[in-house]
Amino acid sequence: MSGNKTFTMIKPDAVADGNTGAIIKMIEEAGFKIIAMKKTLLTSERAGEFYAVHKERPFYGDLCKYMSSGPIVPMILEKDNAVTDFRTLIGATNPANADEGTIRKLFAKSIEANAVHGSDSDENAAIEGSFFFSETEKF
Ligand code: GDP
Repeated sequence: MSGNKTFTMIKPDAVADGNTGAIIKMIEEAGFKIIAMKKTLLTSERAGEFYAVHKERPFYGDLCKYMSSGPIVPMILEKDNAVTDFRTLIGATNPANADEGTIRKLFAKSIEANAVHGSDSDENAAIEGSFFFSETEKF
């Protein structure tokens, strides 16, 4: 059975553009409950740790630089089928391929500066949530 939690970050481009509130509104209106949230800044090293799975990809260096270029808003979200439903809400990695009405279609600038992160599995949702939040920060 699929789990009921996922992890997201509003990425530096969307925070800098003043889209944090609009994105949170879409998330809540889609039925997700926010059970942890903060505004924080990643160092390049910590961004590299978060995206370690992409270490061998050609865009890894740029991705670490971008993800540490300004504040982000990480969140843990709760809903039935959270991972799958959230991936549907955010749309494809490349906004050019994202469906109309998705968060990335509305707010992403490029395949890299694509406004939001969404976990790709229940296992990664748990790992990524713990990367940012302790047990006492989850409500
Ligand atoms: P996601 O699960 O949709 O976020 O996509 P991936 O896990 O494949 O990639 C992680 C993140 O790396 C994406 O959200 C983008 O910010 C960035 N990224 C992915 N593909 C590319 C690419 O081809 N070029 C660049 N510059 N960044 C990319």
